[in-house]
Amino acid sequence: MIEIRCLKCGTNQEVEPPQPNDSCINCGHNLSKGSWMRISGYSKTEAIVEKLIFTYGGFWRRFAAYVLDSVLLQFVIYILALVFGFGFFLSESGFGELTAMWIILSILLPWIYFAAMESSDTRATVGKLALGLIVSDLSGKQISFGRASGRYFGKILSGIILGIGFIMAGLTDKKQALHDIISDCLVIDSKHKNE
Ligand SMILES: [Zn+2]
Repeated sequence: MIEIRCLKCGTNQEVEPPQPNDSCINCGHNLSKGSWMRISGYSKTEAIVEKLIFTYGGFWRRFAAYVLDSVLLQFVIYILALVFGFGFFLSESGFGELTAMWIILSILLPWIYFAAMESSDTRATVGKLALGLIVSDLSGKQISFGRASGRYFGKILSGIILGIGFIMAGLTDKKQALHDIISDCLVIDSKHKNE
């Protein structure tokens, strides 16, 4: 038995060395030559093939996207403050005392922004879009709002361990940050969007 991955749906499965008549346990795709890759003990050529399946978003590219998104969110909050007045954010009882509206906004706004954009057909926030990145599941497919939310709140974990969870995006095999690993997500090049 060897472990292989169907290149159509990305499902890993154990098979006898595949024959053209074998089909994928998940999608039924015919596992003929070139439509699967070996996971366990694969050869050098197959390892190169795996690298070609996805171009992952590296640390600095993702960091640049994050900075863009942060600036954009700050801008939106600034506009809201201009429209509604600064009393919208600061209570009258004293300087620095934030209103409930501000607390709700500071949690809700980024969450909805990241999770809705990354689970939409765009599959990316404005920052990721600008840097040519999309978020996907482990087989390169669009993720649900629920999974995108899990990924978003996973960033709290990535952050509280001194940001090491974020730095992991530069160190792990598939360029996964801790919140990507928790939510079974990848950040990959947008060229894979229509594959
Ligand atoms: Zn399959």
